[in-house]
Amino acid sequence: RQRQLDRRRREALDKLIDLKGSIRVFCRVRPLVQMNNLKTKPPVTVEHEKIAVKSVGIKKEFSVDRVFDQESKQEDVFQEVKPILRSALDGHNVCILAYGQTGTGKTYTMEGTDGKLGIVPRAIQELFSQSSEDSSSTYSFSISMLEVYLGSLRDLLAPRQPLLRPTECSTACNLSILATKSGAVEVEGLTDVSVPNLKKANQWYCRGRRARSTSWTNVNDVSSRSHCLTRITIRRHGATEEVSKLWLIDLGGSERLLKTGASGLTMDEGKAINLSLSALGDVIAALRRKRSHVPYRNSKLTQILSDSLGDGSKVLMVVHISPSEDDVGETVCSLSFAKRARSIESNRDIPEDLKMLKQKRLAELDKEVCDANEEL
Ligand code: ADP
Ligand code: MG
Repeated sequence: RQRQLDRRRREALDKLIDLKGSIRVFCRVRPLVQMNNLKTKPPVTVEHEKIAVKSVGIKKEFSVDRVFDQESKQEDVFQEVKPILRSALDGHNVCILAYGQTGTGKTYTMEGTDGKLGIVPRAIQELFSQSSEDSSSTYSFSISMLEVYLGSLRDLLAPRQPLLRPTECSTACNLSILATKSGAVEVEGLTDVSVPNLKKANQWYCRGRRARSTSWTNVNDVSSRSHCLTRITIRRHGATEEVSKLWLIDLGGSERLLKTGASGLTMDEGKAINLSLSALGDVIAALRRKRSHVPYRNSKLTQILSDSLGDGSKVLMVVHISPSEDDVGETVCSLSFAKRARSIESNRDIPEDLKMLKQKRLAELDKEVCDANEEL
């Protein structure tokens, strides 16, 4: 009976997630900080799932699937993540990505700070606790971490982390991407550590974070111009073995470095980040529009994720914005990215009653899941 309920709960949850869509775009607004321009009225206002940006010469409105305003807590964000972790345990590949201008809270959302844990440590904890409650299968987990910088891939969990200069990165960070016969994608030679328990998992995660921040010499804050990818591989051992991947990604800053008269290294970094972020936007837009051709090959980032963004996968993109007047230009750019990622060609054609039906079905399913939970 327990198993039957378990299954019912899972099926209802699956349907619920499907109805909500397999690619969802959220927006999180960072609280104002002291150094921001506090004299003017903040240009960003939020009402339901709409964000309005008003400033001199700018008046725009954007909708996303969900907004987390300045008051939002780490816990609020994680509530939306929890159900898709269930999907990951059930065998789906999952990608959770933090997008936005530097300083808008991507790392805060993904890593968090002491006492205000972000998505990654919470997700790791949740995977261990959900898997231990599952009576029908056993699970094992492994973790990998890599940094994508200037188009090169660096293994953050490799045993020896040399001190690097950016000019050396094309030779020192040269992992390559392989497509296996089954259609899965692998990063060749990437360290993948089995983690038997939560404590070990956290230790390795901390180690990867340390490697990211301490091994570049003579360059400040490479972390804002590189992508940091944490991958948890989930193996479910039941009648058959199923493998799925959970990607947790802190993307490089989306600010337009090129416009500020950058040269040399900064210019290269700007180009690399812009290229990979727009490639990511193109891929997500193609997937949402159900295009037959999805342009995965245009960047390393999208190549690595090519088996985890499309069919059967769940994607959650959190676009971060600043509430400040000083950043209004970048805010509009980030929200335009969100808009493009969310665009569905046929959306305009969905008749109103179908939308209502979908809403109703969602409410029913929500209740079904609650009921099943209560019975358990
Ligand atoms: P990013 O990774 O996008 O460059 P950070 O995560 O480093 O930005 O955030 C910049 C600063 O703002 C950090 O000091 C962070 O702790 C703080 N911060 C960001 N978002 C929030 C939030 N929602 N609540 C409280 N502090 C935040
Ligand atoms: Mg950051």
